[in-house]
Amino acid sequence: MKLTVIGCAGSYAGPDSPPSSYLLQERDEAGRTWNVLLDLGPGSLGTLQRVIDPGELDAVVISHLHPDHYLDVPGLEVYRTYHPEKQMPPLPVYAPQGMRELLTTICYHDEAGIPPGASEPSLQVNTVSHGDVFNVGPLSFTMFRVDHPVETHAIRVGRAGREEAGAYLTFSGDTDACANLTEAARGASIFLSEASYLEGRDDHLRGVHLTGKRAGITAREAGVGTLVLTHIPAWTDSEQTLADARAEFPRSVLATTLATYEVAYPGEGTDND
Ligand SMILES: [Zn+2]
Ligand SMILES: [Zn+2]
Repeated sequence: MKLTVIGCAGSYAGPDSPPSSYLLQERDEAGRTWNVLLDLGPGSLGTLQRVIDPGELDAVVISHLHPDHYLDVPGLEVYRTYHPEKQMPPLPVYAPQGMRELLTTICYHDEAGIPPGASEPSLQVNTVSHGDVFNVGPLSFTMFRVDHPVETHAIRVGRAGREEAGAYLTFSGDTDACANLTEAARGASIFLSEASYLEGRDDHLRGVHLTGKRAGITAREAGVGTLVLTHIPAWTDSEQTLADARAEFPRSVLATTLATYEVAYPGEGTDND
């Protein structure tokens, strides 16, 4: 499974990246590549087009309904509903309760109100909650409720039927340290974790975000392979966040736009194409 960072800015767009969005790609046994997005923050639909055609997406999974994580879903709906040349099947969107109502509000229509010429809704919204497991092609997704002011899921992704330790990626969503996050990350090959707050500056704020240190402690306790730090706001010195994480977990790196990582499956080596 290949991870490509589409957007890694924290909370709002930064000078070098849109907010939260990550592309996962995996080939099935027939050789077809499946494309799934984790989150779709504002502006990330543009960066995504540097990697794949948005018409090639197979699903979008939204961690939570804060704007920096979903605000380009309406743009994706426009792309898939009104494209002048391509016919695309309804795209599954997995999100916590409230996604359908938000789309209705933002797009000023409901599923019955799609204009002539766009014969069917282009997005198929599925509400997910803690403990839910679903498959998209060869990939299996598991939701873990984490510690953030709105319903938010850490997302564990592995190849269906191959969920043994090490053969998956865990995305934190937005969260402070909590038992469900550690459980979601346990044994992950790649732990893609937010680290929005800074040690010393934000110590009075709990129940919202991780710091580099708290992400590092979670990575160590969960026994992950690599900690990829993301969701660092532009007002924060990311090198300080990285140093705080490495003091707890040396195999820590900073996410950057269009960086790629491979989740290796035990016994199969790394697929690097
Ligand atoms: Zn966020
Ligand atoms: Zn949030």
